[in-house]
Order: sequence, then structure tokens, then C-alpha cells
Amino acid sequence: MRRAVVVGAGVGGLAVAGALARARWEVTLLESQSSLAVGRGALLLWPNGVHALRALNVGSGLDEIGEPVADTVIRRPDGRVLARSSLAGLAERYGAPALAVRRQDLYDALTAELGDVEVRTGVRVDAVRASDGVGPAVGDGRDWWKADLVVAADGMDSVVRRAVSPESAVTPAGYTAWRAVVPRHRALADVTSGETVGSGQRFLVTPLGSRGVHWVAVATGAPRPESADVQLDLLRRWFADWHDPIGALIAATRPDELWQEAMADLDPLPRRFGVSVGHGGIALLGDAAHAMTPNLGQGACLALEDAITLGTLITEATPGAPLDDVLARYDRLRRRRTAKLVRRSRRLGALFGARSRLGVSARNTLLTAAPTGLLDRATAAGADWRPPRTRR
Ligand SMILES: Cc1cc2nc3c(=O)[nH]c(=O)nc-3n(C[C@H](O)[C@H](O)[C@H](O)COP(=O)(O)OP(=O)(O)OC[C@H]3O[C@@H](n4cnc5c(N)ncnc54)[C@H](O)[C@@H]3O)c2cc1C
Repeated sequence: MRRAVVVGAGVGGLAVAGALARARWEVTLLESQSSLAVGRGALLLWPNGVHALRALNVGSGLDEIGEPVADTVIRRPDGRVLARSSLAGLAERYGAPALAVRRQDLYDALTAELGDVEVRTGVRVDAVRASDGVGPAVGDGRDWWKADLVVAADGMDSVVRRAVSPESAVTPAGYTAWRAVVPRHRALADVTSGETVGSGQRFLVTPLGSRGVHWVAVATGAPRPESADVQLDLLRRWFADWHDPIGALIAATRPDELWQEAMADLDPLPRRFGVSVGHGGIALLGDAAHAMTPNLGQGACLALEDAITLGTLITEATPGAPLDDVLARYDRLRRRRTAKLVRRSRRLGALFGARSRLGVSARNTLLTAAPTGLLDRATAAGADWRPPRTRR
């Protein structure tokens, strides 16, 4: 039986570990945290992400954990509508709806599909061996894990990527995101999904049905060094004059529900997503391969696409054959597509995060003048994707 080691148990790592185990590989999943992924906040899953999850066996559970998103509205801070986009037609056009899910629910659903995977938590990989003679291996300073295939699913700051693709760099976007899920009993009723764009600041709201309301606040600058309750105070002040229910949602949030993160992407992307090492190799997956700013809401969807693509290629590979061909095909199927979306997300971030008066006014004019065109193109970016078909 061939052996894979997956580094990182986020969305991408959980998904690919399950897919490789179903392809009858012996799989070890290494995660630096002391327990399997603890998810904060929520995610939008676009039709491509939903298709990937269906192919990964998680489709049926989505009815229970996913909240359909029907419309999205872009407003100015005073509440005036700049643009609307209906997402209801996505299901018809792309064969799957757009769904909002709590990260933890998605992690739990993927964990339930892990099957026969050996899970090792509390293991922080800090060394990578990629010499042709012995094949790929990763270590944590105490132990080494050798494998035919190492999958780097260790996120934007991937240790494995730094070792095999040092040319790729994490590039700060210049803004920070704060997010929280306010439980239903504390959240307001009748909150609708949408985004409000100001000058260098934005606020996104996504209702999660019985699970509450997810919000994300974005502001220019670095993460704040203050405690979470001081950060909440700051957010209250920054968004004080913004339309309802923004102030109420911040007020209903507890400090321990708040999470801040500097936004960044990879620029340039790694030259190759698949690196041959002897008869085996290393595959980069999810944010480790193509971390992007969250403006398109596609990062996790693309990680799921990577996982089912790699799983399918491995399933089709001739048993025992070198992995060169699998890794080259993985690179061909994934690199161009993800590079395009990373660039689009960066451009959308520059447009939505405009700060100067001229920039804000140009953005608002663009949104009002082409209200559905721009938004529809952004929401549909990447939606048109289907899992590769298995040839066997
Ligand atoms: C504010 C915000 C909103 C977003 N909204 C959306 C959205 O709506 N839709 C969407 O599709 N995407 C969204 N994204 C993007 C999405 O969150 C990421 O693309 C996705 O989580 C990437 O998954 P991953 O598994 O590749 O990496 P991660 O989720 O970063 O997981 C990496 C895992 O590896 C572990 N790890 C790291 N280093 C090591 C190591 N050395 N050894 C062992 N383990 C290690 C970590 O602990 C972690 O569990 C958003 C991102 C942000 C910041």
C-alpha cells in the first residue's frame, strides 16, 4: 500500500486526507494544533465548492449545515443601495446553490468522512526532506514521516512550500479582517446578506439561519495589538455611523467570539504545485499553494477543488508507478485556474477597499452604473467548475 502524509488539517487537508484514504492509500494527517481543526467564523461555498464537496462524499450533509444565500446587496455606509445581485439563479446555471456554512460544521462533516486516516495532532512540521534518493519526508524535530506523497495543506505560511518553492512569497494586502458569528439568540432577526463599502472600510453580513449571523469587518492597516474587548470598542467607533444592523451586530458580539487576521496573498505563486521527488513527490494544496485575499470568497472552495482533483488523479494512477505524471497533471489542472482567481480577488480588493475620495467615488459610480454586471461577474467567478471525471 502506498503512503501519503498530509500536513495540516484545515479544509484542504481534511478533504484530501479522506480522498486519498478512499483511493486506498495509507494516510497520516499531521496537525500542529492540539485537536483537529477548530473552525472560527463562516464561509460562503460557491457552486464549485458545493460540487467538490459532493464529489468528496460530503454533499448529503450540506442540506443540514448549509444556509442558502439568495441575494447580495452592496450599500454605502448610509444604507443607500449601490448594487444588487441575485444568487438564486446560480443553482440553475451551475447545478449547485451558493451556501453559507459555519467553518466548524464543515470541518466536522469532512472529519466524519476521513475513514481510515491516522490523525496526529500537536505535531508542528518544521523540516522537509526532498532528496531524490530517499523520497519525500517531513519532520517535527523529533520524528520523521516518510511517504510516497507529501501533501502540503499547511496554509498560507506553509513550511513545506517555503522548503520546495522559496520563490513564492506571502504578500500583505494592507488590510485586516475581523470576524465573528453571533449566536441566533443574541443576533437580530431579519438580517439580510450584503456588503457595505466605505472609505478603506467594509462590513459584510451573512445570515446562517438557526446558527446565527456571521459578520466580517475589514479596515485598512495591520492587526491591532490591543485585547479583543478594546478591538470591539474600536470597531464600534469605526462603524458608528453605518446603517443598521451593523452597530447592533458589533454590540451583540462577545470578545471571545472576535477573530482578527491580516489579509495577504501569495505573489508570485509557487512555480509548480507538484514537485517530483524520486518515485514520489510533494503536492501543494489550498492556501499553501494559492493563498488569496478573501474578496471572492473562493479560497476554501479552491482547496476543496484541489483535494478532489488530486484524489481523482491518484485513484486513476497506475498502482506502483512513479508519481511524476500525477503531479504534472495536478499542476496543469490547478495552477492556471487558481492563479487567475488570486489575481481577480486582489483587483476586487483594491476596488472595494478604495480610500481616496476619487477612488471611492469611481468605485461607487462603477457599481451603480453596471450594477449587476460587475457583481454578477464577481459572484460567478470560479463557479463554473466541475470535478474531474474518473476514467476507471
Ligand atoms: C476573512 C476571511 C473570509 C473568508 N471567506 C471565505 C469564503 O467565504 N469562502 C471561501 O471559500 N473561502 C473563504 N476564505 C478563505 C479560506 O478561509 C481559506 O482559503 C481556507 O481556510 C484555506 O484552507 P487550507 O486548508 O488550505 O488552510 P488552513 O485553513 O489555513 O489550514 C491549515 C492547517 O494547517 C495547520 N498547520 C499550519 N502549519 C502547520 C505545520 N507546520 N505543521 C502542522 N500543521 C500545520 C494549521 O493549524 C491549520 O489547521 C476566507 C478567508 C478569510 C481570512
